[in-house]
Amino acid sequence: MTAHFDVAVIGLGAMGSAAVAHLAARGVKVIGIDAYYPAHALSSSHGDSRLIRLGYFEDPSYVPLLQRAYENWRTLEARLREDILTVTGVLQIGKPDSKIVSGTLKSCALHDLPLETLSPDQMRVRFPVFSLDADEVALLDPQGGYIRPEAAVMGHLKLAASDGAALHFGEKVTAIEPGEGGVTIVSITGRYHAAKVIVATGSWISELVPALRGHAVPIKQVVSWYQPTDGLVTQPQRMPVFIRDEGENGSFFGFPSIGIDGVKVGRHAHFREPIDPNQPNPVVNERDTDC
Ligand SMILES: Cc1cc2nc3c(=O)[nH]c(=O)nc-3n(C[C@H](O)[C@H](O)[C@H](O)COP(=O)(O)OP(=O)(O)OC[C@H]3O[C@@H](n4cnc5c(N)ncnc54)[C@H](O)[C@@H]3O)c2cc1C
Repeated sequence: MTAHFDVAVIGLGAMGSAAVAHLAARGVKVIGIDAYYPAHALSSSHGDSRLIRLGYFEDPSYVPLLQRAYENWRTLEARLREDILTVTGVLQIGKPDSKIVSGTLKSCALHDLPLETLSPDQMRVRFPVFSLDADEVALLDPQGGYIRPEAAVMGHLKLAASDGAALHFGEKVTAIEPGEGGVTIVSITGRYHAAKVIVATGSWISELVPALRGHAVPIKQVVSWYQPTDGLVTQPQRMPVFIRDEGENGSFFGFPSIGIDGVKVGRHAHFREPIDPNQPNPVVNERDTDC
C-alpha cells in the first residue's frame, strides 16, 4: 500500500531539514527522504561554518528574509539548547565603489541597520590580523557571524522527528510522478503519495527536475584552512568573519579560528568550474592555487 502525506521533502541538507522541521512543527503530515545519511560530506551543508549577515550587499530585498532567518535560528537554538549562530560581526572590505561596500551601505541605510565604517588605520588597531590597502574601507555589520551547518541540519532533523515527521535516510528518490491530487514519489525502496512536494536536492536538483538542467549547474567551491602563527589575533573576539572584494579576482571570504581547524578562507564561486556532485571532493588543480 502507498503511504500518503501532506508534503514530501526530498533532500535533507540545510534547506530540506529546515523545511521538514517547520512543517512538522505546524502539524503537517510530512515525510523527509535523503539518498545519504544526514550532514554527509557530498552535500553543500557539511562543515562547521557558514557566513551569515544582515547587511546583504547583493540586494536590500533579502534583508527582511534574513531578519526572519535570524529569528528562526534563535528559536531553533532555544528548542535545542545548543549554539547554532555565533555573532562575531562581519567585515565587508573593499574600495568605496565596489559592489560589496556600496551594496552593504545601501541595504543598511534602507533597513536602518547598524553599521560601522573603519579606515585602514582603525582596522590595524582594532582587528590587527587584517591589512587593508590605503584606498579600501571596512564596513562592520555587528550582527553578522557564522552558522554551524551540520549542527543546524542535525538539530532540525531531531526536532522534525520529535514533532512526528517520517524521516528516511539512505533512500534515493528516482522519480516524481504528477498525478491525481498530488505526486507519487518513487524511491529505490518505496512509493509514497504526497499532496505537495518540496525538492531540496541542492546540486542534484536537475536529476529530479530536468527543466533545471543547464540553469542550475553545480560548481566547485574551494576553501582552505590555515594554522595561524599568532593564535590570539585569529580568535573570534579579535577577528570577525569577513568578505573582501578583490576587483577582477572576485571576492574572498574567511572565518576566525573555530575549533582545531584554524582559519578558513575561500574564494566566492572560484573559477565557476562545473562539477559532478556524485564525485567526492574533486582535486584542486594547479591553476586553482594561483589565486
Ligand atoms: C564550501 C561551501 C561554502 C559555503 N559558504 C557559505 C556561506 O558562508 N554562507 C552561506 O549562506 N552559504 C554558503 N554556502 C552555501 C550553502 O552551504 C548552501 O546553499 C546550502 O548548504 C545548500 O543546502 P541544500 O539543502 O540546498 O543542499 P545540500 O546540503 O547539498 O542538500 C541536498 C541533499 O539532497 C540529497 N539528495 C540529492 N539527490 C537526492 C535524491 N535523488 N533523493 C534523495 N535525496 C537526494 C543529498 O543527499 C543532500 O543531502 C557554501 C557552500 C559550500 C559548498
